Amino acid sequence: MVILVVNCGSSSIKYQLFNMTDESVLAKGLVERIGLEGAQLTHQPAGKEKVVLTADIKNHSIGIKMVLEALTHAEHGVLKSMQEINAIGHRVVHGAEKFADSVLITPQVMDALEECIDLAPLHNPPNILGINACAELMPKTPQVGVFDTAFHQTMPKYSFLYGLPYEAYEKYGVRRYGFHGTSHRYVSQRAGELMDEHITNLRIITCHLGNGASIAAVKHGKSVDTSMGFTPLEGLVMGTRCGEIDPAIITYLMKKEGLTPDQIDTYLNKKSGVLGLSGISSDFRDIEEAANEGNERAQLALDVFAYKVRKYIGGYVAAMGGVDAIVFTAGLGENSVSMRDKICQGLEFLGTRIDPVKNNVRGKATEISVDGAKVKIFVIPTNEELVIARDTEQICANLV
Ligand code: AMP
Repeated sequence: MVILVVNCGSSSIKYQLFNMTDESVLAKGLVERIGLEGAQLTHQPAGKEKVVLTADIKNHSIGIKMVLEALTHAEHGVLKSMQEINAIGHRVVHGAEKFADSVLITPQVMDALEECIDLAPLHNPPNILGINACAELMPKTPQVGVFDTAFHQTMPKYSFLYGLPYEAYEKYGVRRYGFHGTSHRYVSQRAGELMDEHITNLRIITCHLGNGASIAAVKHGKSVDTSMGFTPLEGLVMGTRCGEIDPAIITYLMKKEGLTPDQIDTYLNKKSGVLGLSGISSDFRDIEEAANEGNERAQLALDVFAYKVRKYIGGYVAAMGGVDAIVFTAGLGENSVSMRDKICQGLEFLGTRIDPVKNNVRGKATEISVDGAKVKIFVIPTNEELVIARDTEQICANLV
C-alpha cells in the first residue's frame, strides 16, 4: 500500500509518502509560508536531488495540489499518477474526548472535528483545511485522522481533572488532554521492542524534548499521565512556552503590564520558556553554546529546564509505582548529550545511571544506561509519520 502522510500547520504542510511493503519513504517535503510572501515547496524524492519550487501558494488547497504534482512529476516525481496513492493519513492535533483512536474520515468525523476547534483554535483549522483539500483533489481516496491527544485518553479521571469547579469540565471540557501522543506511543513501543519485553509488562517514562516538550508515564502500554494539559502550554519549560506556573501570575502580570488576553497569551506561549529565561534564543544549541562561553542566564535556563524534567520523572515513578525504562526523544532528547546527562544526574536512587561513552550518541535508537542498570535509559528517535502511516494502513486495509 502507498500512503501519503500529511501534517498541516497554520502556514505549512509537511508530507511523507510511504511504501508500506517495506515501510520505506518514497519522498518527503515541506510547503512553507502558505498565504505569505516567499512561499515555497521543498521536495525530497528518495535517491534523487532535492527540488525547491517557489510559487504564490495562497492556501492549503494550492499547497496540497503542488505536493501531488511534485509526487507525480516526470523528473522529480516518484509515482506515475495520483491513483497510486491508496490512502492518506493526517496528523490532527486535538481529538478531545471524542477520539481515543485513529479514525477513518467520514462526514460525521468532520462534524466532530469542527466541534473540537474551540479547544484547539490554532491547530485544528489547518488540519481540517488539509483534509478538505485532499478530499477535493482525491475524492475516492480514503483518509484517516491520527490524533495527538488520542494516546492520552487512557489517563484516569484523577489524573486529568484540574482542581476547578466540576462544571468547568462538564460545560467546557476543561481538563488535561495531553499532546505528542503519537510520539509517546511510538517510542514507548520501541523501548519494549529494544528490551525484548511485552509493553504490557513495562512502566516507561517517555521524555519528548523538542521545541515543544512533554513527558508521559506509560504504564503497561497505556498513558496514565502526561505533562501537557488543556493546551500544550502546561508542564515543562519549553523553547518559548512557560510550562506550569502559579495561575495567579497571569492576572498579576496582566494588571501590572496592562496586557490584554491575547497579549498575555503571546507572553506565555512565545516569549517565555528558555528564550525568556536566557534572553538569547529558544534553540537549545544556541543556549548550550552561550552557557559554554560562560553566559550565566543561558546556564540558568538549562538548569531550570533539566530540573523540571527530573522532577517530572520522579513524579511519574511515583504515579506508576516504579519504572523500568526512561526514553529520550525529539530534537533535544535525541541530540543533546549534555542535557541527557544533566537530567539524569541525581536519578541514581532509582537504580540507574547514564554511561558517558554510550551516551555520546545522536539520533540513533540505543540504550545509554550503564551495563546491568535496573532501570534502562534509551535514546529513541521518534517517528510520528510512520505511526500515522501504519494506523492508516490498518484502518484502510479492507477498503482499498
Ligand atoms: P523538535 O521540536 O523536536 O524539532 O526539536 C527542535 C529543538 O531541538 C531545537 O530547538 C533545538 O533546541 C534542539 N536540538 C536539535 N539538535 C540539537 C543538538 N544537536 N543539540 C542540542 N539541541 C538540539
